[in-house]
Amino acid sequence: MSRSAELFARAAAVTPGGVHSPVRAFRRVGGTPVFIRSAQGSQLEDVDGRRYVDFCMAFGPLILGHAHPTVMQAVNEAVSRGWSYGAAESGSLELAELITGRLPWVERLRFVNSGTEAVMSALRLARAATGRTVILKFAGCYHGHVDSMLIRAGSGLAAAGVGGVADSAGITPGVAADTVVLPLDDNAALERLFTARGSELAAAIIEPLPANYGLLPQRQEFLDALAWQCQQHGALLIFDEVITGFRTAFGGMAEITGIRPDLVTYGKIVGGGFPVGAFGGRRDVLELVAPLGPVYQAGTLSANPVAMAAGLATLRQLTDGTAYLALEESGRLLDELLRGIPGLRLQRFGSLFWLVLDDMPAPAPMRSPAGLSERAVARFGPFFHALLAAGIYLPPSPYEVGFLSTAHTVEDLKKLASTVHATVRKVPDLSY
Ligand SMILES: *Cc1c(COP(=O)(O)O)cnc(C)c1O
Repeated sequence: MSRSAELFARAAAVTPGGVHSPVRAFRRVGGTPVFIRSAQGSQLEDVDGRRYVDFCMAFGPLILGHAHPTVMQAVNEAVSRGWSYGAAESGSLELAELITGRLPWVERLRFVNSGTEAVMSALRLARAATGRTVILKFAGCYHGHVDSMLIRAGSGLAAAGVGGVADSAGITPGVAADTVVLPLDDNAALERLFTARGSELAAAIIEPLPANYGLLPQRQEFLDALAWQCQQHGALLIFDEVITGFRTAFGGMAEITGIRPDLVTYGKIVGGGFPVGAFGGRRDVLELVAPLGPVYQAGTLSANPVAMAAGLATLRQLTDGTAYLALEESGRLLDELLRGIPGLRLQRFGSLFWLVLDDMPAPAPMRSPAGLSERAVARFGPFFHALLAAGIYLPPSPYEVGFLSTAHTVEDLKKLASTVHATVRKVPDLSY
């Protein structure tokens, strides 16, 4: 028995499914998860001493790779000064200034501890600002495990396949009723909904580049129409940039699309791999938050100084834009290396990529969750394990995207590509 399997058996005896976040349990790919003992650059090492090139990168935060020396130094320095004060300190000020100084749509922001918290707070704020109740979301977009957002969401839920009104048990019909869901990429449905219920909507929330049900790039015209409808009907537009913020560009998809959201949520990269989320946006809206306004929001560990130091050290590496050029170059190389492989389709945007194990011709990118075939889902498990055995760690689900970091080398990408070449043809022969 491997050391990982031993640890997993012990873990299953003390925590549900042996993990603290469901997708880590390998349910979607079968087998038992590997336990990681260390990570450096683009590499993971498990407790059995096996090494992997990591294309999961903690699901997004590690745009600079694991254990980046500059971030590590900042974290070590911060730790040496004590790691939690429950009082005002300047690391959060510097990080907030860095963000608000560069992103004009973030006039004010507040730090929280996760992307989920950021979304939860943004929704409460939108309801308070508008005096309305209903939130519009899009099928296949994931916004964390906030009750009202666990409706037709992606990420681990896509894999869990739990159905009904909500994607999760334990959500009241009242909460579910306050969330309306539309398909992505459907301007006509947008128009119909806003015409019928526009005046009830507190906000529309969207991942402007949905990346939790594979990667589903949206047409600019669709996002423009959403922004326009929101404005016409007095609903706030919330861009959930927890994955895309500081990744597709420093200013994420708001920068790329030129659309100015009323509110925006960040997470993942903003904490450099430590637990940080943030919500921000229009000053008049953010000033409704306590202690200035009536919207309560608080956190014992919010803006933790060690996490702030990690976020600050990470974002400072990204401000001059060279990281994004390098990441795009890596992405293009990946396109080239993976082009024309039968049985494989690649959807990529910058440093986010999605491997789909189906032969479907690709006239246009998939833009809604409906595009993923059962075959592609079924083939993913054996594919994942073949890659794992060859020393490649992909996110363990057909619905999760892969992440490139600035630590990935050309050799890493070539290793991924050659392993994929060697594996894809064999996948249909493997039973799952
Ligand atoms: C990861 C993610 C979240 C949730 O963030 P957590 O830190 O996991 O709570 C919310 N929205 C999007 C778009 C995400 O990718």
